[in-house]
Amino acid sequence: SEALLNNIDFNGGVSVSSISLENGKYELISDHSLGYFDAVVMATPATISKNIISNDLLPDYLIEFMHSQEYVANVHAAYLVDAKDVQGMLAYYYPCGDWDTPIGAIVLHNAKCLESAKAPDGKELVSVYLLDEPSKALLDKPDDEVFEKVWDIARDFEPSLPVNKENMVVFKRSEAIPLHAVGRFLEADAIQQKQSGSLVFAGDYLSSATVEGALRSGRWAANKLLGKTNSVF
Ligand SMILES: Cc1cc2nc3c(=O)[nH]c(=O)nc-3n(C[C@H](O)[C@H](O)[C@H](O)COP(=O)(O)OP(=O)(O)OC[C@H]3O[C@@H](n4cnc5c(N)ncnc54)[C@H](O)[C@@H]3O)c2cc1C
Repeated sequence: SEALLNNIDFNGGVSVSSISLENGKYELISDHSLGYFDAVVMATPATISKNIISNDLLPDYLIEFMHSQEYVANVHAAYLVDAKDVQGMLAYYYPCGDWDTPIGAIVLHNAKCLESAKAPDGKELVSVYLLDEPSKALLDKPDDEVFEKVWDIARDFEPSLPVNKENMVVFKRSEAIPLHAVGRFLEADAIQQKQSGSLVFAGDYLSSATVEGALRSGRWAANKLLGKTNSVF
């Protein structure tokens, strides 16, 4: 990232509230004008993009797709536990198939990769991710309650998890992952091919709901602005 951003004027941590077109330039506005730009890559989630950009700037072929994009919710709670209490447990638990559980995944970060999370010596960092419906049920609850409920759910699923834990952080995402319903990939691909001009759209909802999908769509958008040929998938 540092190499990519070298010699680039990077303006982070800004929430854009609207974008308008004036004399062929895009004005980005937060609580004040951020300036006028020749081109814009909109890489915010569909639900945000459609609120920031007025419909007259949205290409016809994108309006319906953007407005119909659905997302899956996710609640993710992380805890510190004594490493000795989880010794011998697996690094990942991903229930799949017909398994009737609210658990999306449980990850023991040190067991997964020592370098990925720096838990204090003698401790393990455990993340618990819930599926869509159980997440939605907790989105409006206070963090204290979420910590306890999620840990109960996790221990119900995997009783080897210890009773004692230290609450670390809760992430409540109402729009965590775009839902790629049947036919959406084809539609997204067609939209990517149609995009043109100096306002282009990127993000996982136009590619696949992975980091790589998001990166590819961003590279695609940059190439489009540079007039280079593209392949999305
Ligand atoms: C719990 C979870 C686990 C996941 N695990 C994996 C995994 O293991 N492997 C994998 O490949 N993918 C995983 N994914 C999916 C992956 O993280 C996403 O698909 C990817 O990050 C999407 O990238 P994006 O750039 O399209 O969107 P985002 O990462 O959502 O980026 C959108 C950006 O827009 C910014 N933004 C929003 N509103 C505004 C505004 N008004 N003004 C300015 N900026 C704004 C946000 O701050 C954000 O930085 C996971 C996702 C979740 C939620």
